Amino acid sequence: MKHKTDPVTAVLRKPRKCPQCGGKVVHILYGEPSVEGFEMAERGEVALGGCIVWESMPDYQCLGCGQLFRKVHGPGLYMD
Ligand SMILES: [Zn+2]
Repeated sequence: MKHKTDPVTAVLRKPRKCPQCGGKVVHILYGEPSVEGFEMAERGEVALGGCIVWESMPDYQCLGCGQLFRKVHGPGLYMD
């Protein structure tokens, strides 16, 4: 049985750079960003996740291609 396509790549920890394009991977900030949050996003230090509700929220995003990553624990890549 195959898993349905997950747009979010499961990772054990934050990748230093994107495995797909080599772009910078940053933390995603959720909710209403503060002024500081906006400034960090402008400097490319964080990605703004807004108020999207995900089944499983990604933790990081690539600034190059937009690839999303979610931190998981242990060897299991996907947890249902
Ligand atoms: Zn990328």
